[in-house]
Amino acid sequence: MDDYWKELQGKKLHDPLIQNQADPLRQILIEGPLIVGAGPSGLATAACLKQKGIQSLILERAECIASLWQFKTYDRLRLHLPKQFCQLPFMPFPSDFPTYPTKQQFLGYLKAYADYFKLKPVFNSTVIRAEWDERCGFWKVKSVKDEKVIVEYFCKWLIVATGENAEEIVPQIEGLEIFEGPVVHTSSYKTGGVFRGKKVLVIGCGNSGMEVCLDLCNFNASPHLVVRSSVHILPHEILGRSTFGLSMCLLRWFPMRLVDQFLLIVSRLIFGDTAKLGLHRPKLGPLQLKNLSGKTPVLDVGTFDKIKTGKIKVRPGVTRLSRHAAEFVDGSVENFDAVILATGYKSNVPSWLKERHMFNEKDGMPRKEFPNGWKGKYGLYAVGFTKRGLLGASMDATRIAEDIELALESK
Ligand SMILES: Cc1cc2nc3c(=O)[nH]c(=O)nc-3n(C[C@H](O)[C@H](O)[C@H](O)COP(=O)(O)OP(=O)(O)OC[C@H]3O[C@@H](n4cnc5c(N)ncnc54)[C@H](O)[C@@H]3O)c2cc1C
Repeated sequence: MDDYWKELQGKKLHDPLIQNQADPLRQILIEGPLIVGAGPSGLATAACLKQKGIQSLILERAECIASLWQFKTYDRLRLHLPKQFCQLPFMPFPSDFPTYPTKQQFLGYLKAYADYFKLKPVFNSTVIRAEWDERCGFWKVKSVKDEKVIVEYFCKWLIVATGENAEEIVPQIEGLEIFEGPVVHTSSYKTGGVFRGKKVLVIGCGNSGMEVCLDLCNFNASPHLVVRSSVHILPHEILGRSTFGLSMCLLRWFPMRLVDQFLLIVSRLIFGDTAKLGLHRPKLGPLQLKNLSGKTPVLDVGTFDKIKTGKIKVRPGVTRLSRHAAEFVDGSVENFDAVILATGYKSNVPSWLKERHMFNEKDGMPRKEFPNGWKGKYGLYAVGFTKRGLLGASMDATRIAEDIELALESK
């Protein structure tokens, strides 16, 4: 048990209620905010609060910080956006880091961040239920520590930082369970090395699906990319500037529709007509689509070249799988050795937060649109649910800390 945990033990509402040896229950009163999740969002919020002299408690289900980045990402991953758009509040990335830090560099940065702000999450603590208790005027947050001890926390402020990527989405495809080769979600994919010489069906054409295809190619596997509907593919950089950074800059001066047109013209010059290769573009432009639906355009890191040269084959939607093959909507059938599901993630908030006003119970996302989704009622907050990556998380974290500081001052 770490020091912080011991300190909390002294603040119990009641003495520990040991119901029986196998299932002890502890109840603890938290003076400051309680944060659920020790990913970048949770860490950023705790740091912003600390800068204001407000101590918080972070509960994390994994055994370490940033578990998504530690355990669920592939080896070749780098930040998709330049580092200045991914830094957390009060600490820029080291100047000797490249523009697009590697996964290991990003993890090193997050560890340094947690050390600098002396953030000590309580690990192996999964929050299984949280609800506002009208009678006592506290949030009641129930967690399971080390898979056996049930701890119930009482707090005035509850900050949800469990992320947009808490659970894998596994699509319902007929025959998926009878397919005999390996079926892996990208969260378990590390490297194409294990698929060398294999014919692999990659389902999903977002940034992860595209990059996994490239990785498979680099390891001499033969990837087939399923593109069910439409996708915006943009160059990673335009004239030596990151496409994201350039778009942000242009948006200061021009309406989104015009910036979209600019991006589409440049993309056409670089890639040609992507529809000829099976990559049909959505009707809405990339930024408008992102804004309205949260669907992120693909920033090409080399996959398009491999599609053009035929090393990656584009396939339409899958109708069903059989023991060794996939059938597509155009009626064609082809054998595969493995299937990779690049089908994304979803929030897990509805599974544990008993609240209906702030979060939508269907998708676990805040009901209010960006930038208003960060604050709910009774001291409930959300950080990192903006569909705007780390930049959005930093904005939320800053606002939440300011709001809690105000609430404390007005007490
Ligand atoms: C492959 C990939 C690449 C990405 N690249 C970028 C990028 O380049 N730039 C960018 O801005 N964004 C990127 N993102 C978006 C990504 O979501 C953010 O970078 C970031 O990880 C979000 O941080 P978070 O803290 O909100 O969520 P997470 O990192 O998911 O952290 C949430 C934490 O909450 C914990 N948790 C969940 N449920 C519970 C519970 N019930 N009890 C206790 N703890 C719980 C989890 O274990 C996890 O540690 C990428 C995402 C992926 C998947």
